[in-house]
Amino acid sequence: MPVEEALERLLALADAAPITATEKVALAAAEGRVLACDLVAGLDLPPWPNSAMDGYALRLADWQGEPLAVSQRIFAGHAPQPLQSGTCARIFTGAPLPEGADCVEMQENAQVMDDGRVHFLEPLALGQNVRPKGQETRVGELVIGAGTRLGPIQLGLAATLGFAELEVVRRPRVAVLSTGDELVEPGLPLGPGQIYNSNRRLLVSWLQRLGCEVVDAGILPDDLARTRQCLGGLGDVDLILSTGGVSVGEADYLGLALREAGELALWKLAIKPGKPLTFGHYQGVPVIGLPGNPASTLVTFGLLTRPYLLRRQGVAKVEPLRFSVPAGFDWPKAGTRREYLRARIEDGQVHIYKNQSSGVLRSAAWADGVVEVLEGTTPQQGDVVTFIPFSELLG
Ligand code: AMP
Ligand code: MG
Repeated sequence: MPVEEALERLLALADAAPITATEKVALAAAEGRVLACDLVAGLDLPPWPNSAMDGYALRLADWQGEPLAVSQRIFAGHAPQPLQSGTCARIFTGAPLPEGADCVEMQENAQVMDDGRVHFLEPLALGQNVRPKGQETRVGELVIGAGTRLGPIQLGLAATLGFAELEVVRRPRVAVLSTGDELVEPGLPLGPGQIYNSNRRLLVSWLQRLGCEVVDAGILPDDLARTRQCLGGLGDVDLILSTGGVSVGEADYLGLALREAGELALWKLAIKPGKPLTFGHYQGVPVIGLPGNPASTLVTFGLLTRPYLLRRQGVAKVEPLRFSVPAGFDWPKAGTRREYLRARIEDGQVHIYKNQSSGVLRSAAWADGVVEVLEGTTPQQGDVVTFIPFSELLG
């Protein structure tokens, strides 16, 4: 199954199972969440015309070449008096323009005479250095649409409009389980044939960044009874996310248990790393089974599961930005699967890590992102390739 088709199917499944519950949260707690209702401006921004400079506000028609007396001083945060005709006002950045003024000259172009009057050294223009009322937003305008993920910029914008709380989509609850007799948690001694569980940490912190509530289901041994028992005890979750144990190998207990109490499809994805991916339902709860090799887990979570989880929360644009970058490597052998090479940008070219094995997570720690090599292509040094930075995937 081509990557696009897998993504299309997953997004259709997500559209069919949206998380509809919403909650009100303080701005401080809204980072990474998805806005549930359109945010409409209740204010004009700025609410009144104000000065973009420290300088002098005047009515252009009052300037005939004769110095003007200063009739008031206006600081940011204070209300001005209407401008006395034939005078100017000392004004500071962000202070409201007095009624009657229509331009501001910056102090660097103004000369204060011995008698305190001000002479303007340069030609003046109507509206110069004035930020007009409503230049950013007008009352009633849609400022942030429902389905937008809230990051620092959206939160800053909501704050400029005076919102203290936002209506957001409930956090998805995701159960994370690792499978395999070989897995041991860091901190414990390794027995013969055992390795440390890396996927659990990778996925739990990634899911937390994505605004999910994680139900950590720990490690499942390769044992059917224990697998059944664990699945039965997961409780109320929106997604069961597992790694390993769902290939067609002999230790496919997760697959067996899922088939007993639901349905399961094994997708042979045309993706490298990460060929086997399963999607199914266990007692009505969607299940995504990622491949166990850490670099495969990374790629299939980032390119398929992350978009799925965002779409469950109503996010429309779920795909990462892709950039065209010249290759700093030769890729000699055309593949039958789409390949995601862990890569780093240096001197305007993208370079790949020397070992692209799916078991090597260090390749990703070295990299800034992945190069997408299309099926059947052999990009050479200097050819333009597609690069997806991790910064697009990890948040
Ligand atoms: P599996 O799909 O269970 O056959 O796993 C494929 C490979 O990924 C095997 O080498 C596993 O040891 C490895 N693997 C599976 N799960 C994890 C995990 N949570 N952390 C690190 N490696 C894993
Ligand atoms: Mg296994």
